[in-house]
Amino acid sequence: MKHILNQLVQLQELNFALSEQKASNPEARLTQLEESINKLVEKLPEDISSRYLRMHQRAPLVVVPIGQNNTCTGCGIAVPVALVNEVHKSEQIHSCENCGRFLYYQENSPRRVPKAPGAKVELPSGIARFSDVALMLPKLAASSRDDAVKELAALMAAQGFVEDGDRLTELALRRESMISTAVESGLAFPHVRNVEGGSLTFALGLKESGLKFGSPDGETTKIVFFIVIPTPASAFYLRLLAGLVNTFRTAKARNALLKCTTPEKMWQTLTSLTSETIS
Ligand SMILES: [Zn+2]
Repeated sequence: MKHILNQLVQLQELNFALSEQKASNPEARLTQLEESINKLVEKLPEDISSRYLRMHQRAPLVVVPIGQNNTCTGCGIAVPVALVNEVHKSEQIHSCENCGRFLYYQENSPRRVPKAPGAKVELPSGIARFSDVALMLPKLAASSRDDAVKELAALMAAQGFVEDGDRLTELALRRESMISTAVESGLAFPHVRNVEGGSLTFALGLKESGLKFGSPDGETTKIVFFIVIPTPASAFYLRLLAGLVNTFRTAKARNALLKCTTPEKMWQTLTSLTSETIS
């Protein structure tokens, strides 16, 4: 059954990739991706695929990992220990008894670092909800896609936003190998889904000389947003993506960002450029 579960996870990722590409370029022709999705659907047993498609119409998130505290990361309700063990053995396809989503077991789920007790709670607005001056990297040392992802994941871990930078890198590159997250205009959005805890967060790296990221227009990538996505923020992520693509559609905005040489200047420029596009 493991392979069916893997196919379900892959199907969901391709569906997300399709939504991501639609969000970043509503006019793009997506036939190839749609074909891959249809092929995968045909490979699944009929009862599984029809359940997947029915649930997918209602919500984009259909296949979810069990959280470290034995809850369904889709609905947050506790999963009985006996069922957790069954899912771990994965001899059959299992679903959450509360929300019906397909469940899988994920070793070493990436986690946000828990906030220190007594830490002050801030309610930022705009782009400050999703990032921080400490997550700005004006000059990526990396000269390849993989190293750029690694550098940004390491920055997030070093700044105390996630627990395990290496695991995060591994998952982001696995996603990247399915289909590139690079889009037109020299932008890329490598990401990791189903991070436990915290909120949608990104680190931003710049590489003026460009990186080969697999963009559909064949151009190099100069602006890399590395994003961690907690399960409940899965759909919201598409709005952030659309807002960022909208902001950096113009060469003027991209050049203003690429000119920045310090994290402070980058943060200031990003905040001002996104003041109208990201609420
Ligand atoms: Zn559930």
